[in-house]
Amino acid sequence: MTLFAPAYYPRFACIASACRHSCCVGWEIDIDPSAHARYQTMEDIRGSIAEDDPPHFRLGEGDRCPHLDEKGLCCIILRHGEDALCEICREHPRFYHVTSRGMEVGLGMSCEEACRIILESDDFDEVLPVGQTDGTPKKAEFDPLPYRDYLYSILKTREFSYPERLSYIADSFGITTTLHSDGVWQGVFAGLEYLNREHKALFAAYSSAPATPDELIPALTRALAYFIFRHLSPADSTDEMLAGLGLAMLCERLLCSMVIHNPNLDIFDAARILSEEIEYSEENTEALKEMFYESISAT
Ligand code: SF4
Repeated sequence: MTLFAPAYYPRFACIASACRHSCCVGWEIDIDPSAHARYQTMEDIRGSIAEDDPPHFRLGEGDRCPHLDEKGLCCIILRHGEDALCEICREHPRFYHVTSRGMEVGLGMSCEEACRIILESDDFDEVLPVGQTDGTPKKAEFDPLPYRDYLYSILKTREFSYPERLSYIADSFGITTTLHSDGVWQGVFAGLEYLNREHKALFAAYSSAPATPDELIPALTRALAYFIFRHLSPADSTDEMLAGLGLAMLCERLLCSMVIHNPNLDIFDAARILSEEIEYSEENTEALKEMFYESISAT
């Protein structure tokens, strides 16, 4: 089947040693069975594996991957080539979902370079073929893609102001972040699991209706388009689509709130942190979507 990706996807390349928030620091990297079997024959790699379930690289000082050198380069690539990487290292920051048109691949915003590209790219509404992959397109009764196209057309229009576009989306789909008060959302954010406890304070300033500064609008629009691509596209039912859209709208308002209330935080760092803490924890994304499911099932 055909592999599709947002138009900005081919512009991504890992910036390796220039990356300030490397994904090779602070994350426990699980090793897939095929790479694990391969690494048993590689002297320089075998000893660095913690043989837990699943096996992973034993992190070194400062929670650094043991194969990251002082220059921030990956020794596995340097010594054995990119093909020697385990699946997580090879694929990060990509994520995939199958749709009625084929497979889609996106770039996760927790990666510093992916985040920069996403927040600087206006071609978010173009999802283009980038290759072929195994499998068949989804044959589900419900298809969220026409709704995504419609949402992107609203985000792209210049007829209405940004707050009007957000209201129009909320009214059209009957889903809004204001279904819960700011205090309720703040309580939910306080109860999430955090990779970095210091990030919890950044989420505490959440508001569904912060005044959006004009200079933030282009990046917030692109961020919302990304959240829609990631959380609405895999939906198999109307309820799943609405919960995914609710999560996307919540993330956009959270991002805006984080930047407004933390003057030392720019939108790139805020978006990266938000993605890292929410999108890379299934428990957190499900907890937030559940807040929307409650209201969807009540209507
Ligand atoms: S976070 Fe992104 S740019 Fe940085 S090292 Fe990882 S893949 Fe490369």
